[in-house]
Amino acid sequence: MSDALLRVENLHAGYGDFVAVDAVNLAVEKGEIVALIGINGAGKTTLMHTVAGLHKPTAGNVFFKGEDITALPADKIVQKGLSLVPQGGRCFQRMSVQDNLLMGSYVRSARKNAKQTLERVYELFPDLAQMKQRPAGNLSGGQRQMVAIGRALMAAPACMIFDEISLGLAPAVINDIYRKIARINEEEHTSIILIEQDIRRAQKVSDTFCIMLKGKIVLSGKSSEIDSETLKKAYFGI
Ligand code: ATP
Repeated sequence: MSDALLRVENLHAGYGDFVAVDAVNLAVEKGEIVALIGINGAGKTTLMHTVAGLHKPTAGNVFFKGEDITALPADKIVQKGLSLVPQGGRCFQRMSVQDNLLMGSYVRSARKNAKQTLERVYELFPDLAQMKQRPAGNLSGGQRQMVAIGRALMAAPACMIFDEISLGLAPAVINDIYRKIARINEEEHTSIILIEQDIRRAQKVSDTFCIMLKGKIVLSGKSSEIDSETLKKAYFGI
C-alpha cells in the first residue's frame, strides 16, 4: 500500500436504495492537486461528503494519514486535518467576517496558532481584512466564498476539498480564487481536491484528474498527459 495522504477504498454511498457512489477508489498524495470532474448528478458531492464524514457510506473505507477515518464524525475528521469548503460559500450570515473565520479554529490542534493563522488568511485575502467586522451576509458571493475558504484554512488542514467554488461567480472572481488556491497548495503544501464541472480549467490547474459518471470513477490519470478529446468523451460518457 502506498503512503498516500488520503486513500478511498471501494467506497459505496447513496440515498435509500439509490447508489450515488459506486465502488470508488481514489488516492491523493501529499501536496497534490486532484480535480474531480463530472456532470451534474455524477456523485461528486456525495463522494466528498462521505469522505469528509458528512454522509455515511454503505460500504468501503476512507484512510487519512494512514488511519481509518470511515466511522469518524465530520468534526473529528476536520481535527485530523481534512477540511471541506462547501458549495456556495456557506457562511454564518449574521456573524462578522472575523467571527466566521474564528469558527474554523475550534479544533484543538489549530487553536493555539489561531492568531497567526488569521493573519495568514488576511494576507491571502486582503479584502477580508478590510471588512472583518462586517456581517458575512452583507458580502458578495465571491467574498463569501473567500470567507468559507478562510474558515477552512483556520483549521490548518493538510488536505482541502473545494466543492464547485466557481458556481455562480464572475470569471474574474473565479480566476482570483483559483490563484489563491494555487498559493495555498504551493506555500502550505496542502493537498487539494477540486470538484469542478469546467473540464478545461480543472485540467489546467490539477496534477491528476478523476472523471466521475453515474457514481463511478470512469477515467483517471495525470492531467498533463491526457488529451482534451479523451477527457471530454469520458466526461459525457460517449
Ligand atoms: P452536482 O454537480 O449537481 O453537485 P454531483 O456530481 O455532485 O452533482 P451529487 O450531488 O452527489 O452529484 O448527486 C448524485 C446523485 O445523488 C444524483 O442523482 C442526485 O440526484 C442524488 N442525490 C443527491 N442528494 C440527494 C438526496 N439528499 N436525496 C436523494 N438523492 C440525492
